[in-house]
Amino acid sequence: MAKQIILIIFDCLRPDTANNPALMPFLNDLKKEYMSFDAHSIASATNFSMSGMFTGTVPLEIENTWHITEKKEPVYLPKKLNKFYTQYITSNVVTCRKFGFDKGFDYFEDFLKERPQVGANRQKLTRFAAFMGNKLRKTIFYNSARKAYFYLQEFLGNNPNLNLGLKIRFKSVNDAFFNSLKKIPAGKDSFTALHFIDSHTPYLSYKIKDKNIIKEAKRLTKELYGDKGDDGEFKTFSEKDITFLKERYDEEAKDTDEQLKEMVDKLKQLNKWDETLLIITADHGEAFGETGYMKHPLGEVSNLNHIRVPFIIAGGLAKDLDIKKANNGLIWNKDIYDIILGVADGQKQIQLKENDFVRGVRKKNTVFYIHALYDPVKKEIINPVPPA
Ligand SMILES: [Zn+2]
Repeated sequence: MAKQIILIIFDCLRPDTANNPALMPFLNDLKKEYMSFDAHSIASATNFSMSGMFTGTVPLEIENTWHITEKKEPVYLPKKLNKFYTQYITSNVVTCRKFGFDKGFDYFEDFLKERPQVGANRQKLTRFAAFMGNKLRKTIFYNSARKAYFYLQEFLGNNPNLNLGLKIRFKSVNDAFFNSLKKIPAGKDSFTALHFIDSHTPYLSYKIKDKNIIKEAKRLTKELYGDKGDDGEFKTFSEKDITFLKERYDEEAKDTDEQLKEMVDKLKQLNKWDETLLIITADHGEAFGETGYMKHPLGEVSNLNHIRVPFIIAGGLAKDLDIKKANNGLIWNKDIYDIILGVADGQKQIQLKENDFVRGVRKKNTVFYIHALYDPVKKEIINPVPPA
């Protein structure tokens, strides 16, 4: 039977949520039956994190961008898996084609056609940002224009961060996945990456019908994306508001778990489980005011809730797999790259390398502070200081 490697990325899934059997019972059953690790993401934002998982490198290690460029193609996962049928199905429209993660896959789906207006507006904003140039990004003009843009999109109902109805749900990704399985040539090994946005803001379970809860969720979502709440700037939320948001987040996690169970049950029914390696992780975590921050702001990893991620390896192919941690005992989500290539190659024992991120990415005058860095001297994860 053909090998099937599946990488599931839950956007913004905290490990304490993932580890809670009351919230995610199925995921915890998988953990018990197979293996799991306490892992960290290399960054607190999707594009950097995905770039790490898809190239096995820290963004900036190869060049000063997290985009998949020609330079990175030799290490780009779908290119390395050239004997495999490869596919990427993602409900995170923001962090796929814009950063080149759509390249090289035999099948790619990001549901953009279901949201043409969002796509068009994003392209406009990207062009506008390029026109403004990075040096102008911190000016009042840029910030005012950005604010005006978000107000306009909100008014038009086009902002996916604010319009709860625009979120592409688990079911859409799942349906696309099972349809795509039919396209894989018989006997061919396959690699599938599935990216689920359900636990990302705006948090509101599709099951919630209570008008007051919906109204309050909308109000707080706007607060989270207001000019002070975005991009990691400090914004104070009351304990009551944080509790409300956390409850909505937990409901999303519960829904996700139910649907994950359905997915695995279906894989088992299709007799694909024995030849499956299922890796489940998150691109990063999420903060709920622990150190004053909410969401997972760029440039701020002092709150480790942003970068702690669940990491579970399940499926028939996980049964006799031996993952040897690096000497420092840390596991990063970018190590997934080595695990996938190892299993694709038929290895039963995979030794993870020690990642010395400080040496790899510290460059003068380079924006490198978006990464979580491991300091091999202090033997701890540090919050890097932005270059002066
Ligand atoms: Zn993300």
